[in-house]
Amino acid sequence: AMQGSTGSEERIVVSVRVRPLNDKELAKNDLSEWECIDDTTIMYRSNLSASERSLYPTTYTFDRVFRADCPTRQVYEAAAKEVALCVLDGINSSIFAYGQTSSGKTYTMSGITGYAVADIFNYIEKHKEREFVLKFSAMEIYNESVRDLLSTDSTPLRLLDDPEKGTVVEKLTEETMRDWNHFIELISFCETQRQIGETSLNEASSRSHQILRLTIESSAREFFGNDKLSSLAASVNFIDLAGSERASQTNSAGARLKEGCHINRSLLTLGTVIRKLSKGRNGHIPFRDSKLTRILQSSIGGNARTAIICTMSPARSYVEQTRNTLLFACCAK
Ligand code: ADP
Ligand code: MG
Repeated sequence: AMQGSTGSEERIVVSVRVRPLNDKELAKNDLSEWECIDDTTIMYRSNLSASERSLYPTTYTFDRVFRADCPTRQVYEAAAKEVALCVLDGINSSIFAYGQTSSGKTYTMSGITGYAVADIFNYIEKHKEREFVLKFSAMEIYNESVRDLLSTDSTPLRLLDDPEKGTVVEKLTEETMRDWNHFIELISFCETQRQIGETSLNEASSRSHQILRLTIESSAREFFGNDKLSSLAASVNFIDLAGSERASQTNSAGARLKEGCHINRSLLTLGTVIRKLSKGRNGHIPFRDSKLTRILQSSIGGNARTAIICTMSPARSYVEQTRNTLLFACCAK
């Protein structure tokens, strides 16, 4: 029913968004090493050294590539909208922002979430023949511990296996969302909860995953015979992932990561799950190996739709990490 702009029925849509060089990078004369040569291809501009040539391509192709001057609205329209709005047709979905710390994950995901919520309210406004209930919940996964971002109680939440619903987050707050202003109130509250008790917000956000979940239930106001569409329920998840530097044990130069930079089990497992799903949905997929993939199982497996937006800095000083991000993105296709 909903019309997206990619027009594809692919289950996993992978795109890459380059952010502009920031003031800090400009101040130290950092250079932009990457060029988007068209809507789907990004190219490394410098010559690869002999040793690099066997490891890395010079061009990488995805469903979409967004250059540094592309506004978030456009990223949303082309890379996320269709996946987000299939929730209105009763199909679960997940939209991820993946990339190293400071590459633009939060910037991108918060914009996309806002556009999607606005579109959902618009759709509801135009479809008076159905009755909709919107539920909002939010959680954070930090060191494999799940926390409710709509509660001031920071006790870790347990995951339970429900025979019908699959994995359920026990005692997770669900707020019935009334309108746009209520949405703004809820996300502002989540922001304050994320900051409490953290010495450095940046450090915390580089290590934790944030999941905002909208569950939409709808039913026809009038019942026409045995209409299967008379009642629908699905969730769309907006996931701002931990920094992808947490996914690799060593950087490509082989140096050990600095103290305190632990590998993130949820991020690592997500990579494995996505790689396996992209190769086909048969065989064992290790959803149960991490909290993130357990919580999201019904929204990335089965007939769910997934969009992954990989964010990157174009700076020379981040080339190693950026390549890791692009290689992750390639594996997801
Ligand atoms: P991350 O969440 O990946 O750590 P952020 O989203 O916080 O990164 O982005 C880091 C900084 O770069 C922020 O100040 C943000 O406003 C800015 N930024 C990120 N992406 C863009 C973009 N596409 N255009 C302009 N500024 C951006
Ligand atoms: Mg962030």
